[in-house]
Amino acid sequence: MTQDKKVVLVVDDLPANIGKMAEALGDLYVLKTASSGARALDYLNSEDPPDLVLLDVVMPGLDGHQVCRAIKANPETADIPIIFVTAQDTHEEEILGLRLGAVDYITKPFNPAIVRARVENHLKLKEYQDILKRRSHLDGLTGLPNRRDFDETLAREWKRGQRLGSPLSLLLIDVDHFKNYNDHYGHLKGDDCLRQVSAALAEQGRATDFVGRYGGEEFVALLPHTDLEGAKEVGEKFRRCVATLAIPHEASPVAERVTISLGLATALPSEEQSSASLVQAADEHLYRAKQLGRDRLNSL
Ligand code: GH3
Ligand code: MG
Ligand code: MG
Repeated sequence: MTQDKKVVLVVDDLPANIGKMAEALGDLYVLKTASSGARALDYLNSEDPPDLVLLDVVMPGLDGHQVCRAIKANPETADIPIIFVTAQDTHEEEILGLRLGAVDYITKPFNPAIVRARVENHLKLKEYQDILKRRSHLDGLTGLPNRRDFDETLAREWKRGQRLGSPLSLLLIDVDHFKNYNDHYGHLKGDDCLRQVSAALAEQGRATDFVGRYGGEEFVALLPHTDLEGAKEVGEKFRRCVATLAIPHEASPVAERVTISLGLATALPSEEQSSASLVQAADEHLYRAKQLGRDRLNSL
């Protein structure tokens, strides 16, 4: 059960205050403590950040407001709910705290039951937020990352490629004659087919590769640190794994089973070039793969 407990970080320079908070939250959560703002930030930037922070305002060194600003400025920690716990009980102080992005404000001396209730509420809200965020990045039909997620991933990988001076490859993957498939077998079977193809593609990728649904019957794979030759191999693996599924496609002029065409482009990301040019190039190669007869990979 301990594994399921949420982690709450209590930041306060006075051990007595931390002790009172520990009493209030008892064994409901895994309590971590930090006796200064700097220690709090160390912990927040670690591999395993907390689910919620109870933050004292007045502390020597970095004060609570500065810590809050730092947490909110870092995209990795910006979503972690912060509750100020402070003896500063003027409206101005409270407004300032909330404006800095804290979700709540508790004044000392606090009532333990109220602290428990507020912490619980905010953890629940955070859980819903996380679920919504995850869902908004997933495609409903296939469960793969969706176009929004791909756009963000591409922007990130383009920057990372620039930093590392490392090539980035992109495969656009399109199911061949899929309109015929729907017309012949019906839209529901078409959906089944897309699910099977997507699962097969996702299984092939390495852990560092991104495989997502680009839209309709098109998928996209983004391969960091992968040059043209390496990406061709991955693309061929994709093509073969869809062939191996052997999904019958009687209405396809290309084969008796469902096939895919792939357009591949590789670039060394740079500031001068936009990441959109990589998508554009892969799209042109995909178009060419279709022209050349489908069920193939095309690249430079
Ligand atoms: P090509 O080989 O040139 O790619 O031919 P195509 O028929 O696959 O291409 P086209 O763009 O003409 O048709 C794509 C079809 O994919 C039409 C559309 O109804 C179908 N499609 C797109 N999204 C979905 C979906 O979520 N489910 C189902 N069942 N069909 C979809
Ligand atoms: Mg298409
Ligand atoms: Mg198609």
